[in-house]
Amino acid sequence: MAWFKRESGELDTSGVKTVRTEGLWVKCESCRQIIWKKDLAENLNVCPKCEKHFRIDARSRLALLLDEDEYETFDAGLSSTDPLKFVDLKPYSMRLRQAQRDTGLKDAVINARGKLQGRPVIASVMEYAFIGGSMGTVVGEMITRAIERACDTRTPLIIVSASGGARMMEGVISLMQLAKISSSLARLNKAKVPYVSVLTDPTTGGVTASFAMLGDLNIAEPGALIGFAGPRVIEQTIRQKLPPGFQTSEFLLAHGMLDAVVHRKQLKAYIARALEFMDTPAVGHQPSAVS
Ligand SMILES: [Zn+2]
Repeated sequence: MAWFKRESGELDTSGVKTVRTEGLWVKCESCRQIIWKKDLAENLNVCPKCEKHFRIDARSRLALLLDEDEYETFDAGLSSTDPLKFVDLKPYSMRLRQAQRDTGLKDAVINARGKLQGRPVIASVMEYAFIGGSMGTVVGEMITRAIERACDTRTPLIIVSASGGARMMEGVISLMQLAKISSSLARLNKAKVPYVSVLTDPTTGGVTASFAMLGDLNIAEPGALIGFAGPRVIEQTIRQKLPPGFQTSEFLLAHGMLDAVVHRKQLKAYIARALEFMDTPAVGHQPSAVS
């Protein structure tokens, strides 16, 4: 009975197709729904079920904000020299090389010049995947250069923050960036060039304590963690329990710390409208010829 007995000993599996499913799906931490990654990407990385805004990288952010994905980057060649020769679990120089390999960037920010709904802008966008978007000398220098360029060319500035704060591996030199950036923003303010600060998840520490909160307009994405110190440190210091939702965009808006919380889908149009508003002279205002 040949049909009953297998005649060749080996089972031929060469024609069997393997279907790869791993990595195609992602679980939303907020509503616990399983979402197809392609659906998530098509929805600007916002959960289609509960509107949770997933983190996006700096390049996707620039593509989202600037017209037709056309922009020119500048100051991309700067990289940290590891001034303190810092070593924690592993040497800082090694961490830097790893982050540079993973992200294709020299440090945690991209400076770009492009157009937002036809209006020229300078954008500085932080990359959280690069050592937690931490602000060391290079981030500080690049953001300062973006501000100076905005000031010299009288081009509106947009900074998109995504950062754990100052970069501890560069110690006090990274803290000095707070003062450096804040003083060039003061110059930008004096020159009356608009600055829109966009705070995304997360914006904490020295970044919140300096440029992220110094915009002419400070806007955040929904549900973003925004704060200075972490909640546990604050609770231990003030010896009080913190209210629910503390350090989210919505809480900060309700307490007067932000101007608006804007959905990712409306962000570009919102900024365009704001820049147009800031560019329009007040009714009846005549620029004075006498200085
Ligand atoms: Zn969700």
